[in-house]
Amino acid sequence: MSIAKPIRRYRQTKVVATLGPSSSSPEMIRRLFEAGVDVFRLNFSHGSHQDHGERVRAIRALEAETGRPIAIMADLQGPKLRLGRFADGPVTLTPGQSFCLDLLAEPGDARRVGMPHPEIFAALVPEAELLLDDGKVRLRVTACGADFAETVVVSGTKLSDRKGVNVPGVVLPLSPLTAKDRTDLDFALDQGVDWVALSFVQRPEDVAEARKLVAGRAALLSKLEKPQAIQHLDRIVEMSDGVMVARGDLGVEMPPEDVPSIQKRIIRAARLAGKPVIVATQMLESMISAPAPTRAEASDVATAVFDGADAVMLSAETASGEYPVEAVSIMDRIARRVEGDPLYRTMMDAQHADPEQTESDAITAAARQVAHTVKAAAIATYTTSGSTTLRAARERPEVPILCLTESAAIARRLVLAYGVHAVPTEDVQSFADMVHKAARLAYVHGLAKEGQRLVITAGVPFGMPGSTNILRIAWVEPPSRSQNHAEREQDARSRQPMAFADA
Ligand code: PGA
Ligand code: MN
Repeated sequence: MSIAKPIRRYRQTKVVATLGPSSSSPEMIRRLFEAGVDVFRLNFSHGSHQDHGERVRAIRALEAETGRPIAIMADLQGPKLRLGRFADGPVTLTPGQSFCLDLLAEPGDARRVGMPHPEIFAALVPEAELLLDDGKVRLRVTACGADFAETVVVSGTKLSDRKGVNVPGVVLPLSPLTAKDRTDLDFALDQGVDWVALSFVQRPEDVAEARKLVAGRAALLSKLEKPQAIQHLDRIVEMSDGVMVARGDLGVEMPPEDVPSIQKRIIRAARLAGKPVIVATQMLESMISAPAPTRAEASDVATAVFDGADAVMLSAETASGEYPVEAVSIMDRIARRVEGDPLYRTMMDAQHADPEQTESDAITAAARQVAHTVKAAAIATYTTSGSTTLRAARERPEVPILCLTESAAIARRLVLAYGVHAVPTEDVQSFADMVHKAARLAYVHGLAKEGQRLVITAGVPFGMPGSTNILRIAWVEPPSRSQNHAEREQDARSRQPMAFADA
């Protein structure tokens, strides 16, 4: 039986790409995957359910064909606030003039416009700042009531229909899930997405509310794009399965000079907690319309990789840009180059988080050490819930982490995490089986060559969920010529995650 060489990545940092009009044909999705995409993001701020449903089907078909689990992230729009419309197109403003926001449905003019969000009026106070159109226009509140806010224009000269509104200084009494988000969430969960991303999280309770609705059907990622969320950073990280440094809105709500430090703080907090962290937005922005990035953009991607982020993300570059495949390729190349730099290891190790006082962390930290000492080709982890593999990713080892799990859903989720090569496969029955299978799959999946070593962690007794408590060094084996029928079947099935759907 001949099996095509499985697709493994030659980097530990993952690539997330947003699908949109530039990238939704099955052919384009395949090219993006081949160029290096690990996680596809569906942006529910744009596109219909039908569009997203077709993308999900194309991704799952590709997954079945390549035999590699692919993660899908549904990114919910969240309470994105917008102005109403103007009567005669864009209006011109003069700094120093007064401008009124209200709840009226009538189209706006140069003196007023509707803002159909009573919750904002309820939370506003005099002196609060409103940022319109990604901060291009700033208004300061001079007087306000339940249905109006009188403001003075601080800066900016032009406003047009439906521009976004940010209110950085005020905690708005908004659920992170609007009616649209709830409908989108139901749809996304029905489609079997692996991650749900929550926009404009403000408080830890927002995450709790979403978690109830998601009810374990997907992993939950909090987008950090509000100053209030940064105040509760540790708690939000703790309550989420992953986080995103959402620099687009974050950079509107906070001064640009604050964003780099906050990015580093978020990555550090997430790494300490062992939760996947994505650095997002404008990473290769100029590639929306150019085939190569600016040097500053290349450096931005490199910085996120040097900081030890789990993933870097493309938004408009792949969703609506002219060079989606090129954007993914260059991101892949930058990550590989940085990871090969000796300085990278020094920087990673300098930020290495100590193991917590658990058996699982003790074994996992030891596995990284042992892998380094014996120059093992990979670390294999057996996991049921995915937590052991995430702890291994938290160690930021030099070698890939082969994640062996019975659940296709867990395998897909873990694709986002640093260094993880996930393989859905049946649980093992014995110690010998455990060693043999990990060594064989490491070989079959191209993570290790014959004669190299593999470090394996698992929990005994087998078949009982519980903490990881053993570590074994094994030699990598090719599938032997005397391989029995059951093993051959297993190898083949390990390359077909669809066979394990909903396991
Ligand atoms: P968005 O989120 O693209 O959905 O706005 C990311 C960001 O704000 O950076
Ligand atoms: Mn955003």
